[in-house]
Amino acid sequence: MKLLEERIHEDGVVLPGNVLKVNQFLNHQIDPELMKQVGEEFVRLFQDEEITRIVTVEASGIAPAIMAGLLLQVPVVFARKSKSSITDQNAYTAEVYSYTKKVTNTISIDRKFLDPNDKVLIIDDFLANGQAVIGLLDICEAAGVDVVGVGIVIEKSFQKGAQLIKDRGVRLESLARIASFSENQVHFVEE
Ligand code: 5GP
Repeated sequence: MKLLEERIHEDGVVLPGNVLKVNQFLNHQIDPELMKQVGEEFVRLFQDEEITRIVTVEASGIAPAIMAGLLLQVPVVFARKSKSSITDQNAYTAEVYSYTKKVTNTISIDRKFLDPNDKVLIIDDFLANGQAVIGLLDICEAAGVDVVGVGIVIEKSFQKGAQLIKDRGVRLESLARIASFSENQVHFVEE
């Protein structure tokens, strides 16, 4: 997505450890117009699927997910993150190691917000090693829902997440795909 790549070039800051900071439009301040266009792009890509629910994880997945949910007129569920692994009988849970925070969180979704008849689109802000998305896929599998695909705003294609998702046979659509960082430069995957 051209507009998104331009914003990453303009506002993205490359931090040590291959972390891209995009606090101007996605991870702290949010640009609603850009998020609207991100939502439209997800809807265009997945328009042939009869999506009934969108699933994401707090906090930064919520903005792009809600825009797609608004356009598709389906509910958006975000998995909550907590430090404790005390299991709630009413929730589906998964352990997720955070790439940026270097801690393991338990993510959970209340059972009442996933129905076995659902066709789910998973959306997240970033894809790095895939732990967040794999956790969401595990939760969806436990709930018996059909996952039609995964939509990612920014994929770091040089990390292993994309391959892990494809290995599970799940369709992956990323709106910006980063091949590498050098100095403070972002290089996108050539289409
Ligand atoms: P993964 O679980 O794929 O290893 O990492 C995905 C999660 O880590 C995303 O939900 C995002 O919150 C965070 N993350 C991973 N890499 C980056 C990055 O380069 N920049 C930012 N801002 N967040 C990242």
